[in-house]
Amino acid sequence: MGYLACAQNKNDQNINFMDNSKDTLHRFIFENTDIRGNYVRLNHTIEEAIQHQALPQNLLTALGELMVANALMASTLKLDGSLTLQIQTNGPLKLLIAECNENLGMRGTVKWSGPIESLVPIDLIKEGHFIITLNQKNAKTPYQGIVPMEGNSISELLENYMLRSEQIQTKLWIHSQDNIFHGFLIQKLPFNSLAEVVDPNAMKNVWEHVVALADNSFEFIRPSLKTSDILQDIFPLETIRLYDSSFPEFACSCSKKNVENMLRLIGKKECESIIEEQSSITIHCDFCNECYKYSEDEVDFVFNESGYSIKH
Ligand SMILES: [Zn+2]
Repeated sequence: MGYLACAQNKNDQNINFMDNSKDTLHRFIFENTDIRGNYVRLNHTIEEAIQHQALPQNLLTALGELMVANALMASTLKLDGSLTLQIQTNGPLKLLIAECNENLGMRGTVKWSGPIESLVPIDLIKEGHFIITLNQKNAKTPYQGIVPMEGNSISELLENYMLRSEQIQTKLWIHSQDNIFHGFLIQKLPFNSLAEVVDPNAMKNVWEHVVALADNSFEFIRPSLKTSDILQDIFPLETIRLYDSSFPEFACSCSKKNVENMLRLIGKKECESIIEEQSSITIHCDFCNECYKYSEDEVDFVFNESGYSIKH
């Protein structure tokens, strides 16, 4: 944990670039306020997610922004499972999806059809359905929220969702430079002991002040800088407590076991008819490009193992 004290002076001759070998996420709070936040920088995670997908630049931007938003939103939760942001449209963009688990293991993919290169990301998604799914391990069913398509960016859509559905004032800023995506989120905590001792109007002014500072400067900040320097460039006079970093990484949750559960859901009859047509069943994971292939004997085994009896 470290402090960015307001008296600290950054020596411009000695700009500290961050260690670029890992993607990072930092939580932080503005001292003596009810504002908390987190900052994330994703480069390798996105590179790995798209290495088997030949994405046009606009889709890469849309996916990168959604993955940054996903990490930022996930880090505001006590996550023990996964948070998924998913956009489906009837237009050329069929599916845009990002997922983050409690260890900041992330994956994402895009499906589209037809010419799409000329569309800016918000035009690709604005006629679609934007769904947030929170899948906690101890919950019986996943929580799903629908993000209204009100806003001109993924950030704005999520800000409006958080205010309307969760009653939490939230702001997100997301940018990229040379396909390094970074962003940060701040939230005004709804319950805080400070509210009893500090004038609520003063807190409102602090919120508006930090939002204005970020609005004016974040798009000019280079993602190659250290998080502490980035925050100090945006908020030169504020005292920020920066917590230790975490490290987002590409991770895919697909597995033989999940695929076999899926085959059981498809059903024995359907599986047998695919085997009849294609002599095997191949399931492809769009997130990591893994192929799971099942022969007739292996499919039989899947259904026998789960207690199904095969009638001849
Ligand atoms: Zn996979």
